[in-house]
Amino acid sequence: MKKLDTKLMHPRDQIILIIDKIYKSGLTTTSGGNVSIIDQSGDIWVTPSAVDKGSLRPSDIVVVRKDGTIEGRHKPSSEYPFHRAIYEARPDIKAIVHAHPPALVSFSTVRQIPNTNIIPQAKYVCGGIGYAPYELPGSEELGNKIADEFIKGFNAVIMENHGTVVGGSDLRDAFQRFETLEFCGRTIIYGNTIGTPNYLTDAEIEEFENQIPRLLPEMSHVEHPSEERAIRQEIKKIVHRACKQGMMISSYGTVSVRWRENDFLITPTDVARWDIQNDDIVQIKGGKREPGKTPSRSTWLHQEIYRRNPGINSIILTQTPYLMAYSVTDEKLDVRTIPESWIFLQDVPNVPFGSHFAGEETILNVLSENTPAVIINNDSVLVTGDKLLGTFDRLEVAEFSAKSLTMGASLGKLVPINNDQVEALRKKFLG
Ligand code: 13P
Ligand code: ZN
Repeated sequence: MKKLDTKLMHPRDQIILIIDKIYKSGLTTTSGGNVSIIDQSGDIWVTPSAVDKGSLRPSDIVVVRKDGTIEGRHKPSSEYPFHRAIYEARPDIKAIVHAHPPALVSFSTVRQIPNTNIIPQAKYVCGGIGYAPYELPGSEELGNKIADEFIKGFNAVIMENHGTVVGGSDLRDAFQRFETLEFCGRTIIYGNTIGTPNYLTDAEIEEFENQIPRLLPEMSHVEHPSEERAIRQEIKKIVHRACKQGMMISSYGTVSVRWRENDFLITPTDVARWDIQNDDIVQIKGGKREPGKTPSRSTWLHQEIYRRNPGINSIILTQTPYLMAYSVTDEKLDVRTIPESWIFLQDVPNVPFGSHFAGEETILNVLSENTPAVIINNDSVLVTGDKLLGTFDRLEVAEFSAKSLTMGASLGKLVPINNDQVEALRKKFLG
């Protein structure tokens, strides 16, 4: 992932930025979890023990100097011993996130490790997952058990009957690994709630990683008229909103908007989605890309969708927790749940993994006015529409429908609205 000015932000400010995201994303409680950074001099900056994680300020962060001196207004995290043990065991790790996010705690309490072959980028982002047997919180023994797993080369560890701890080359890297692993856990759990999850083979994951980014040629000269800049702003705002609303995670998701004729703007590959800025977004004009930037690997598909569907002016491709349940199982998302869902979506077919790779025609053949969204197996959901906000709304409606169906699974069997009711909706709303 591209790093912005992470390296130049003070460790205190980096910790506040990330702990705030963790808390607001529902990945930690007020009291749970801790985050640290080791700096170039070997000083460890760490969250304080038992201080509200929802309202920490930079001045609350504690530093444990290399010689063991503690500076700060509070006591360092009670889990400081395992943070230190990991840094000692693995000098390449520069930041650590520990928390008790719900899905990974589920795994830790049934003593299982999530299989990251559930979605394509997770194996690459998370690496192998270690497992540390239970020890008393804050103890040296817990530090030893965890460090043993990191020594094996794991960067993410499930802590038995406790939670998870992940390391990274910097705090953004650790956060992305943490968020992606929890997302895998949720996807497996929701998939299990409605059916049986299917996993990707290592060969399929490799195929995903090796997708030849049929990089468009670079344009020699680029212009940024005001309406082009307005689209950048619009894309940035919706990507940030999607991350805040749980509709996109750091490691996956593409948004594009048609500019003029078949030219468009699209998000880049390899930038943490929550941190995308206007100048990360890539202009595609006359089949060429803005110089020096790498657009999404799905650019070919976006280009063909715009070329073949004059009515489509924006596209979102993303992973959302409940729609992914329908992506990783053989269950079909039936949107005949409530009028809003049917009107916005009509039919949401599944297409095979890899259908969004360059040169694949399946999605292009399936999309139509009556089929504005498709679920790509073990990958993502692709939603199209006119205005970007409308497309985002359609994504939210789809995710809410999937959530209602997943939650409803424990209550009984879906009773869909019937054909006559659907016809009446078609007449009144889609005329
Ligand atoms: P601290 O508040 O001391 O960091 O403890 C939180 C926690 O998760 C303990 O395992
Ligand atoms: Zn803990």
